[in-house]
Amino acid sequence: MLDAARPPMVSGGSQSYMGRGPTTAASPSKPEMSLVLYDTMTREKRRFRPHDPKRVTMYVCGPTVYNYAHIGNARPVVVFDLLFRMLRRAFGEAHVLYAANVTDVDDKINQKAADEGVPIDVITRRYLDAYHADMSVLGALSPTFEPRATQTMDEIIDMIGRLVRNNCAYAAEGHVLFNTEAYSDYGKLSRRSLEDMIAGARVDVAPYKQNPADFVLWKPSKPGEPVWESPFGPGRPGWHIECSAMIEKTLGLPIDIHGGGNDLIFPHHENEMAQGLCATHGGEYASWWVHNGFLNMGSEKMSKSLGNVILAHDLVSRYPGEALRWALLASHYRQPLAWTEETPRHAKAALDSLYGALLRAADVEAATAEPGAEFMAALEDDLNTPKAYAELFALAQALDGATGADRARLKGELLAAGQLIGFLKADPEAWFQGADPALKATVEGLIADRAKARAAKDWGEADRIRDALSAMNVEVQDGPQGATWRMKEQV
Ligand SMILES: [Zn+2]
Repeated sequence: MLDAARPPMVSGGSQSYMGRGPTTAASPSKPEMSLVLYDTMTREKRRFRPHDPKRVTMYVCGPTVYNYAHIGNARPVVVFDLLFRMLRRAFGEAHVLYAANVTDVDDKINQKAADEGVPIDVITRRYLDAYHADMSVLGALSPTFEPRATQTMDEIIDMIGRLVRNNCAYAAEGHVLFNTEAYSDYGKLSRRSLEDMIAGARVDVAPYKQNPADFVLWKPSKPGEPVWESPFGPGRPGWHIECSAMIEKTLGLPIDIHGGGNDLIFPHHENEMAQGLCATHGGEYASWWVHNGFLNMGSEKMSKSLGNVILAHDLVSRYPGEALRWALLASHYRQPLAWTEETPRHAKAALDSLYGALLRAADVEAATAEPGAEFMAALEDDLNTPKAYAELFALAQALDGATGADRARLKGELLAAGQLIGFLKADPEAWFQGADPALKATVEGLIADRAKARAAKDWGEADRIRDALSAMNVEVQDGPQGATWRMKEQV
């Protein structure tokens, strides 16, 4: 067996976008944070220490854009957005690089394009736009980098070439496969033995595989599918290789944090690590592996076959984004999250109680404040959001009971704590009128577009926008002063 854990040194960071990070000046770093994060590799909580505090790197596996994101897809986005915010606070905004990929080469995308009889990029553009809009309503900040598979093809082909040269991959019948026997640590992250993985993979093993656990790096495209030229023949990449190539390109290996849902631990992250290390420096791939738990529909798995899939895209038109974000962070991120009809309503009620305290304190100006020590301690303990929420309620209660200068201080502290993690951004009065700030921005943008279309007598476009607003439960009334809008009654 080849010891592929020590392949020749290859240009790990040379292709990275190191010079392309944010150019804004670093915000002054807050007193040093003692963030503790659970690491799936070591199965323990460890104090977070980046390789370079001036260049903290995090990569999270992102969406495959062939449909609207369901609420389970939104959970990692919000969880890792919270972690991104914590890192930015601790190390300064300009020092944290967060990459989340977009898979825009995939069988499901091809199928959808064929079903609709449109080019693939019509599908990917439509659903990527919707994804961006929906996640922004949930308060998720844009990642620093959002690499796409179709824009990373040279790097993917280059990485596969290195794996072939290192004898960690082989070509067979138009495919290139990763040779799992070449990497002695295969199974280390998921703690599976090679025998187990072979047994698991034995169903319907492709004849060109040397070992049943070997996985595809490159495969031929079917007629009508997108195809790229490569030294291994025309075709397209497998899914796993895309993330390793993107990490190398955008952040450089090793990275500080690799995140994703816990359903990705095996095989996706196991494969990412195997190919990434065999193609590069061999030492470490990610110092912390952070995985969020599943979102279930009550006690059932969410699945198409059970007919219980709920789209984030539908929820954002029915509930304020902050309420959905609250619901997604209400359980600790590593625990399963049981989603029911009531979940967003309960989350809205929880936020109502915080906004209520702010409304009753509308007569005082909030003092400039930092989030309190207890609140920060809860978040720094592996993102303990249930405990952080309890601190917010305690603050709201204290604000209600306070007198004199304490009111300004407590109001400031409540706002600082809430806003750090993406809440309490609305004007309290507007909150109770039902206009979430993110939704409000989206609606007002659409109304402005509609006014432009009407001015240009593009009635088709104006009607299309009106329908889109109606689908968001927004009722538009045209008046002499322009259009006004309100949310329709919820049923
Ligand atoms: Zn990935």
